[in-house]
Amino acid sequence: MGRSSIRTGSTGSTGPEATREYVFRVPDPLGDHANLAAALRLAAREAEAFLAGIDEDLVRAPGASDDSTSSLPVDGVGSLAALSELVAAADREATRSAGPRFFHFVIGGGTPAALGADWLTAALDQNAGMTISSPLATRLERISLDWLKELFGLPASWSGVLTTGATMANFVGLAAARRWWGLQHGVDVEAAGLSGLPPMTIMSSGYVHASALKAVAMLGLGRERVQTLSRDIAGRVDMDAMASVLRESDSEPVVIIVNAGDVNTGDFDPLADIVALARKHKAWVHVDGAFGLFAAVSPRTRHLVDGLELADSVISDGHKWLNVPYDLGFAFVRDPVLHAGAFSASAAYLSAKAASQPEFMNLSPEMSRRARSLAVWATLRAYGREGYRFMVERHLRLAQRVADQVDAAPDLERLADVSLNVICFRYRPPGVPDEQLDDLNRRVGELVLEDGRVYFGTTVYAGKVAFRPAIVNWRTREDDVDLIVSTVRELGGRAAAQAEPARTPARKE
Ligand SMILES: *Cc1c(COP(=O)(O)O)cnc(C)c1O
Repeated sequence: MGRSSIRTGSTGSTGPEATREYVFRVPDPLGDHANLAAALRLAAREAEAFLAGIDEDLVRAPGASDDSTSSLPVDGVGSLAALSELVAAADREATRSAGPRFFHFVIGGGTPAALGADWLTAALDQNAGMTISSPLATRLERISLDWLKELFGLPASWSGVLTTGATMANFVGLAAARRWWGLQHGVDVEAAGLSGLPPMTIMSSGYVHASALKAVAMLGLGRERVQTLSRDIAGRVDMDAMASVLRESDSEPVVIIVNAGDVNTGDFDPLADIVALARKHKAWVHVDGAFGLFAAVSPRTRHLVDGLELADSVISDGHKWLNVPYDLGFAFVRDPVLHAGAFSASAAYLSAKAASQPEFMNLSPEMSRRARSLAVWATLRAYGREGYRFMVERHLRLAQRVADQVDAAPDLERLADVSLNVICFRYRPPGVPDEQLDDLNRRVGELVLEDGRVYFGTTVYAGKVAFRPAIVNWRTREDDVDLIVSTVRELGGRAAAQAEPARTPARKE
């Protein structure tokens, strides 16, 4: 790498004499200067070994987890010894969530390009708050956000920002909504606060995610103010109820949270219908597409997010389907002025010459920020639109494959359509009374997690305890997903046999 050094004529590195001067002082980090390259090599070697086995490893290493505590070391052990201890702990305790059979929650892996870029992010250690602190990070964040808008079919004129995840992305989108809502009442809420304003009318379907409610809570709007308007126990939106809330709210501004991808089933609120309804009233439409926004990447599923470009704010996650390592999310806002208004901050020492575009520090909750754009840029540069389309479509096919296997099994019951990448089903062997199915499925869920070949817990869907494996990891293949059904049936058989003695006397009564 070509470089300009302040020490002209020298390599800029610390010579052996200078190193020796400090060595006796280890563990002062400066004394470990000479170990830096060795520390990076150790990390690379161990990371490579960890990932080399991840396609085959159990998702959770068997054995008790270590819950021992210890007090702050007075004298440190030095870089290499500390890293070696960390590696040993990771071997025992780290879930192989980056691997192909972690179907719990919605957890992606790290593509080779994203992971490599993430390492460089730490090595370069850029503060992505302002151009002056990192022109690189600022430029790559702008490019990454433009590319993501293209990927999802969002207008280039929208503003955007990278966040730590979908929860903070929901926070960003809903903060812009809160600013808009305040201005509708003639109040700049960032300056004057919320007091004196009426409670906000917020509505969603029963699919609303806990993180959106958390964002509403953090924004001081009150989690309990969110009305979930569902027409059935599964949580599907009640459009008539939504229409009547809007009619009754008259000229009051309203915020609607649309769920593009329910965590239990991958089902979508009807975005186009909701946007059409909202446009007849004074309503802000916020779309939580933490993983579901990736439906936009394939022509096969694009229709699920029809109307997206008519929304006011749209968010998604990067550490889910984009397969960038933790942590990463992104938020997009139709009105860049509202977005910037919600997060502007200033201080004498921060002011630089007026930039043509706002600094990311003034578009996000944080001021100092990790340069998350490097990993986004690298993975999109490496695989492009088509690479992501191939991956998403592979996952769609794998989900259908699992759905077919569930349907063909006499002891499994599918509980919802598979419109995307989540398969919602339960174990239901013939002869087990309905009222025992929840307990049985909970037990099977525990056994699945203990077993570790595949990994997913239970949820409650439409009042029934169910499994909901979600497929989003770039490594996942046919062999991996085939273990979902075979493992549930095998462990289900074991759980049912164990439950049998308890059941028989109960039936005799
Ligand atoms: C995962 C998820 C979130 C929260 O995302 P984090 O990245 O964990 O903050 C929000 N909404 C939906 C629909 C999700 O699936």
